[in-house]
Amino acid sequence: MSNCLFCKIVEGSIPSTKVYEDDMVLAFRDIAPQAPTHILVIPKAHIPSVNGVTAENSGVVAHIFEVIPQIAAAEKLANGYRVVSNCGDDAGQTVHHLHFHILGGKKLALEMA
Ligand code: AMP
Ligand code: ZN
Repeated sequence: MSNCLFCKIVEGSIPSTKVYEDDMVLAFRDIAPQAPTHILVIPKAHIPSVNGVTAENSGVVAHIFEVIPQIAAAEKLANGYRVVSNCGDDAGQTVHHLHFHILGGKKLALEMA
């Protein structure tokens, strides 16, 4: 996707603070952290949101959930963390490239709405 911010981060034309990378997945620090540790994990291939996950591309989502515990361990989130994916306007999705927020480093508030 030529006009997608996170595709540009994957390409390297927009800089990011990478914490993990392999052939399918990139993880980098959120530019506006909502917790002491706030990392975004994305597929390198463009998927617009959770609604774009299909039988053909869901392998990368499984892979992301294998990578997340490795990142959490590297970030020393042994006391716990939250994984969030905002899908669509009501959830406040602002970047339309599938991403999973890893939030941790403090006791997180429980309210979801
Ligand atoms: P969402 O609101 O769930 O779509 O999340 C998008 C996230 O991307 C927000 O938490 C932003 O702070 C973050 N973000 C936007 N631009 C950048 C950037 N250039 N580098 C890192 N994170 C970014
Ligand atoms: Zn994209």
